[in-house]
Amino acid sequence: MSSIQQFQMYIDGKFVPSVTGAQFESLNPATGKPWAALPEAGLEDVNAAVNSARNAFDKGPWSNFTGTERARLLRKLGDIIARDAELLASCESKDNGKLYREMLGQWKYIPEWFYYYAGMADKLQGDTIPSDRNNFFIYTRREPIGVVAAITAWNSPGLLLTFKLAPGLAAGCTFVVKPSEHAPVSTIELAKRFEEAGFPPGVFNVITGAGIPGAALVDHPGVDKVAFTGATQTGKKIAASTAKNLTRVSLELGGKSPNIVFDDADLDVAANGAIAGIFGATGQTCMAGSRLLVHEKVHDALMDRILARTAQIKMGNPLDADTEMGPVANAPQLDKVLEYITVGLQDGAKLAAGGKQDEKLGPMFVMPTIFTGVTNQMRIAQEEVFGPILSVIKFKDEEEAIAIANDTRFGLAAAVWTQNIHRAHRVAHQLRAGTVWINAYRVVSFLTPFGGFKESGLGRENGMDSIREYTETKSVYVELTGKPRDPFTLG
Ligand code: NAD
Repeated sequence: MSSIQQFQMYIDGKFVPSVTGAQFESLNPATGKPWAALPEAGLEDVNAAVNSARNAFDKGPWSNFTGTERARLLRKLGDIIARDAELLASCESKDNGKLYREMLGQWKYIPEWFYYYAGMADKLQGDTIPSDRNNFFIYTRREPIGVVAAITAWNSPGLLLTFKLAPGLAAGCTFVVKPSEHAPVSTIELAKRFEEAGFPPGVFNVITGAGIPGAALVDHPGVDKVAFTGATQTGKKIAASTAKNLTRVSLELGGKSPNIVFDDADLDVAANGAIAGIFGATGQTCMAGSRLLVHEKVHDALMDRILARTAQIKMGNPLDADTEMGPVANAPQLDKVLEYITVGLQDGAKLAAGGKQDEKLGPMFVMPTIFTGVTNQMRIAQEEVFGPILSVIKFKDEEEAIAIANDTRFGLAAAVWTQNIHRAHRVAHQLRAGTVWINAYRVVSFLTPFGGFKESGLGRENGMDSIREYTETKSVYVELTGKPRDPFTLG
């Protein structure tokens, strides 16, 4: 009997195969074997999903739900997710090879997003505008933007989707979701929780597959907004595509984030932060601290600590509780990581750790890799690898550190390690990045805006303002006298 589990898409409140019957498989990178089979959506499936979301938005019961009613459903969904966090986490870990304990932490945290934005659903107030004319009463309304196409990456599918779903549903939008073909299962499992919570059909639709469905969704005239997380290169294609219909778009893209260690830092803590920044999640996070900028005076002392800890990193099965680093998530990603190891060597960087696959564990397990002697012009300092490769760059003073940190086309995140409070804030203010941590790395919260400067993205997720990404403001003028006015001048 096959151990491959079958999953279906979720369209208009029903679990369905693709119209053509085509399927694809999701491989578990830790075993190298397929574990799930899913429908490969074609154009007809995309149309069906968008039509369903369109109907639910334009005509369905959802369109008449008050904010209070939407909030009730969001809270219920949060409770169901909290109950089922283990199952959702294990699907993701099997799909993308990330540590089960990290995925579980994410799924246990995800309900907070639904509770937080539930609290906002009935507070989307407009303004009463004081009029400059006595015969007008003017007010604004915050209306949902409409049908949202949410497209996500494979590294944290549930969390990245939640960043979009929770504010979007609170605002009254409906969704067609397209998870990555490398990690689609948790999104399908989430659909079962939507059904249990009692969301009307069409509010949440899921289509799966590579190639066609994402691009067709972005191009679809029935979509009002695209909310995307993925590579910068894909984000640019999507921005160009949405420009055709002026479809609203928000983009969460790649990074090459600087992790800056000054000579007055606590080196033990900073070394731990450097490890968390690049080897957490096998380096497969958008916010990876992939450029370690170190003051020349503490370079050797810091590297001794980092190399000692790196040598102890326990690689293995992501489902085991004591594993610290799992496999690279998929075959294209493995090729990319291995290619950048070659590029680093060709560019003259010094390989201080790793640089190869772990023979015992198998080809998908790339050892934690550190290049020292890197200059910021090298490709391994400028291009996103999205894997466990650290580029270490020396600097001599604060001014140079800031210049190197900002000399990148990305601007997602950065960290500053120092015990000098003046320097900590001074440097944080000068870094061109959407998030800066001081003496910490890789922290996100539903309360705090997250997003990129420069080519790391467009718009912000999380926090109070992100709900604005899912509403349009409408101004309403009410004439109070009922008398006609000069029809040939601006009123
Ligand atoms: P990707 O861009 O290859 O794919 C992302 C999603 O887009 C997938 O669902 C894919 O099927 C779909 N897609 C591909 N081509 C498309 C097209 N032309 N039109 C519409 N959809 C298309 O990215 P990935 O490899 O899945 O993820 C890794 C990237 O995601 C990295 O660059 C990482 O930095 C970025 N990322 C960013 C954040 C963030 O919040 N800024 C978070 C996680 C990952």
